[in-house]
Amino acid sequence: MSELLSIIELGNPILRHIAQPILDVRDQKIQTLIDDLLWTVARSQGVGIAAPQVAQSYQLMIVASRPNLRYPTAPEMPPTPMINPKILAHSTEVVKGWEGCLSVPGVRGQVPRYQAIEVEYLDRAGKRQALEMTDFVARIFQHEFDHFNGLVFLDRVENTQDLVTEKEYQQRYQPSE
Ligand code: ZN
Repeated sequence: MSELLSIIELGNPILRHIAQPILDVRDQKIQTLIDDLLWTVARSQGVGIAAPQVAQSYQLMIVASRPNLRYPTAPEMPPTPMINPKILAHSTEVVKGWEGCLSVPGVRGQVPRYQAIEVEYLDRAGKRQALEMTDFVARIFQHEFDHFNGLVFLDRVENTQDLVTEKEYQQRYQPSE
């Protein structure tokens, strides 16, 4: 049975740490952490999660875009664990879009991100994978990747006027289907 992990929030110093690369992907502790993160992100209505958010300072993220209550227009993809990922290339185009974070409850912000990125990572079997991501999925990756460097989306917001509360976001900015 997978475990629902408790998510740490802004103010917890672990969110500001630099995450360590994973040396042995096949380690049972890491495999269990992957299963628990998959379960936790699905249960939390998230579209992504990074291991530092559950106080495990490793370079492990789940990108799991799908329409849910928090992100009704997110594209559907299979939840993908990515270990020790790297950004190999990115577009020159930068786009602003809405983000929230399970570790920063109650706030949304307009965050500039590269429109497209090319990444490589290890999958949960330890096999090297390469992937091109665009738009919202590229945004999720860049958001989770920032967690490895001790950054949250608030650090990327250009102007505090680009921040809104979750309540006002739901009433004013949530695109309706
Ligand atoms: Zn986050």
